[in-house]
Amino acid sequence: MDRLIFATGNQNKLKEIKEIFADLPFEIVSMKDAGIISDPDENGTTFEDNALIKARDVWEKCHETVMSDDSGLEIDYLGKEPGVHSARFMGHDTSYDLKNAELLRRLEGVPFEKRTARFVCACALILPDGTEHVVRETMEGHIADSPSGNNGFGYDPIFIPDGYDVTSADISPEEKNQISHRGKALRKMYQFLSSCK
Ligand code: IMP
Repeated sequence: MDRLIFATGNQNKLKEIKEIFADLPFEIVSMKDAGIISDPDENGTTFEDNALIKARDVWEKCHETVMSDDSGLEIDYLGKEPGVHSARFMGHDTSYDLKNAELLRRLEGVPFEKRTARFVCACALILPDGTEHVVRETMEGHIADSPSGNNGFGYDPIFIPDGYDVTSADISPEEKNQISHRGKALRKMYQFLSSCK
């Protein structure tokens, strides 16, 4: 069976992709399991650029099927920040309690209708012959007035998805996967790969 190498060190992402791609004829392996070390400078200006930077760096080292993703939170009122800087915003090692508090401070007094935001996920796939395919999906919503919820991670406690009156940290992981940027992008990539095989 061909291998699909997922360019991530994140075990949660690996678990999610294994579940969604379960019936595809690929053995899904992490970079680590494939013995590949990759840490390119993610200096792209879009999520698509950064997903491709990661995937190309791994593909150069193996010429197998490689997939990567890049994601983050865009807040319209803040000029789409933290955007591609989501993981680096205020420093990699700063807690999300502090990052979320700072974003809420910057939105103080801004009414709900102007607090529009979205989580974005770009997934890049490179086939063994070097063909590239990129998909992008979003989860639209608003930034809450205060943090809430213990599920999820990162910016989930301050993000209210459209159609909900609670944050994405208040809903179950299964429900979030159904509506999330990453879940939707992975399912779109699944459709593409199914049509190739
Ligand atoms: P990366 O895609 O692993 O580079 O992560 C980007 C960053 O975006 C994460 O560290 C989080 O801060 C944020 N992020 C991406 N997706 C989500 C999500 O579903 N919930 C909360 N934060 C997220």
